[in-house]
This record gives sequence, structure tokens and C-alpha cells, in this order.
Amino acid sequence: MFVYADNAATTKMSKTAISAMTDYYENIYANPSSLHTAGQQAKEALEDARARVAACLGCEAREIYFTSGGSEADNQAILSAAKLGAMKGKKHIISTAFEHHAVLHTLNKLEKEGYEITLLDVSQGHNVTAGQVAEAIRPDTCLVTCMYANNEIGSVLPVAEIGKVCKEKGVLFHTDAVQAVGHLEIDVKKQNIDMLSLSGHKFHGPKGVGALYVRRGVMLSNLIEGGAQERGKRAGTENIPGIRGLAAALEEACANMEENNKKVVALRDKLIAGLSQIPHSALNGDPVNRLPGNVSFCFEGIEGESLLLMLDALGICASSGSACTSGSLDPSHVLLAIGRVHDVAHGSLRLSVCHYNTEEEIEHILACVPKVVQNLRNMSPVWRDLQTGKREYIL
Ligand SMILES: *Cc1c(COP(=O)(O)O)cnc(C)c1O
Repeated sequence: MFVYADNAATTKMSKTAISAMTDYYENIYANPSSLHTAGQQAKEALEDARARVAACLGCEAREIYFTSGGSEADNQAILSAAKLGAMKGKKHIISTAFEHHAVLHTLNKLEKEGYEITLLDVSQGHNVTAGQVAEAIRPDTCLVTCMYANNEIGSVLPVAEIGKVCKEKGVLFHTDAVQAVGHLEIDVKKQNIDMLSLSGHKFHGPKGVGALYVRRGVMLSNLIEGGAQERGKRAGTENIPGIRGLAAALEEACANMEENNKKVVALRDKLIAGLSQIPHSALNGDPVNRLPGNVSFCFEGIEGESLLLMLDALGICASSGSACTSGSLDPSHVLLAIGRVHDVAHGSLRLSVCHYNTEEEIEHILACVPKVVQNLRNMSPVWRDLQTGKREYIL
């Protein structure tokens, strides 16, 4: 049996998204900047996709800028806000300790350039509160950037409350909503979001295409210089097939959200209930405010990498955390940020499911994981020490 349970890393494209793209490779391939009729047809397709993406987020079409993905959108939002802040003498930025590297590494870069960065603690309930944000805001704060939902542990942040705090204090608010768009209800106006990043391949659209929503009136600067595409804010010939695919996938995800989530939440909860039976294990992430498809656990006395390899041999695609950090020996910064000690953080497993997964697949996972964990523990010197009392259990 083959089970794809790594949807937080990327998703299978939907048939709708694929069929929305082919016409733009085969027929409507002209450059939207070209003045001829074929070019103008491509331009219309681009603007139609922009309007449809905007409708899914509750904003205006002109507030959407297409990018090469979530990482680029995060970089552009943060660097723009930082530049704007510096112009006003404000060089303090607030974020959280469990952001994606697209955010954290951009903030590291700004820190080296003289910005002051406050990373909010996420160890309480594996989440942050709007109160923490309010407390951290200073007169020189130019940006709050908090993810909408965490890609490793599934915590969903109180974005609307954070947006309200930022609006009251007059601070720009950006959210990396890559894990949330297409999965959770979003209305950027109601939630007081000034900037939002999204990525096509996290909601069954194509890879290499994303978007940045920027509220009208917020100054945006560009990362890429060149032509006047995207209102002069993102040069380069537009990825029309990708953008069409993204728009189709997003519309489909939003139209089916309630139905999909009902199914996905049931699969997730079945996994969580089953894996919680494994002794000396712990669920990572907010147990209540949680992404519909996220299951994240730590198992004491094992190595997550070995667990992944053994599950792979059984046909199960999972992750030990973020796809970006796997392969490195450092435990995930997210698991450390929620307070897992190194040894425990190493024994992590993330299963991220979607509406394409079936009950039978969940049963296969639940038949495999406990056995594999036990086998690994039987071979582990750390586990022997725990059992003989030489070492104390943490979980
Ligand atoms: C996947 C992901 C990104 C990066 O998006 P890309 O389109 O792959 O660049 C950023 N943030 C979060 C939370 C993600 O899950």
C-alpha cells in the first residue's frame, strides 16, 4: 500500500488545477505584456485569475501580487515593511519562534543589518496569544509577522485577534498563511491583515507559484528588478499556466472546504487517538486550534529519521518535521521552541493528511507506526537506559 501523508510538504495537484493549466501551455501562450490580441488574451486570463484569488481572500484584485511561491512572498513582505519602517526610524520587528525559515532567515538578515527582532515564546500551549503581541509592541515596532498556521505542529494562531491589536497600535501585520490558505476560512479585511503570503502547491495547485496580498495603501518594494509586471512590484514574465492552476486550485479548495475538512478532521483525529496509545509519546502543537490535516508526535527513545525510513519501506510518506530541515542533524527549531528537549525532539513524526487519504490508509498507518516505534525502541540503547532506570523518562 502506498500512503501519501506528507501534505504539509507539498500536495498532489487536483485534476481541476491540471486541466486549468494545459490550455496556457498549448494555446494561450503569448506574453501578457505583448500588445497583439494573443497577448491581450493572456493578459485577460492573468487578471481573471487575480480577481478569483482576491475573491477567495476577501480583498481587491489589485491587492494581489503573484510571486514564485510562499518563500518569495514572505521575503518581499518582510523586507518591504522593514524598509518602510527604517524610513520612519522604526527598526523593531515582532515574530514568533516557530516561523518557517523563509521568515526566520529573512529576519536574521535584517538583524545583521541593525534591526531588532523579538521572537515571541510559543511554549505555552504551543501557540501565541494576541496579548503577547500587544505586550511586545513598542513605539519603534514597524512590523508584526506571525504565521497563520504552523507547518510542523499544526497550531493555528489567533490571527484575527493579532490583527486587531496591530490595527489598534498602528503596526503593519503580515501573516505567512501558506499552510492555511485553502484549508481555513480567511477574510483579510475582517481579520485586519495587511499582508498575507500563500503558495499554490500547499492546496493542490502547482509548485513554483504563489501570491502576496498587500492592503491598498501599504508601500511595497520589489525584490526583483526588471519589467513592469505586477504593477511594477515583481519583474519577470508572468507564469500564466501556474497562476491559472493556482487560481483554479484555490477556488476548488475554498468551495469544498467544509466538506473536505469534515473528512480530514475525522482522519486526523483517528490518527491522533491511535498514536496517543503509544507509551511515552506526546502530541505536538495546539490540541484545539489545529490545522485539519496535521498530526505531529514525539516518541521518546527513538530517532525520527529511522522511523521515517522504516515507514517509507512500508509505503508511508511522512516527515520528521519540516522538509527543509530533514537531512540535517539539528532537531527542528519548532520542536525546540515549544519546549521539547533535544532527545525528545529527535524522535518526531509528522503525518499531514488531506481529503484524498482514505480510512484504509489511516488504518495502515496505525497498524505500522506502533510496531515500528517498538522495533526501534528494542534496538535503542537510550530506550534500554530508560527501562532500567539509568535514565529518566521525559514523556
Ligand atoms: C511551504 C511553506 C513555505 C514556503 O512556500 P514555497 O512555496 O515552498 O516557497 C512558507 N511558509 C510555510 C508555513 C510553508 O509551509
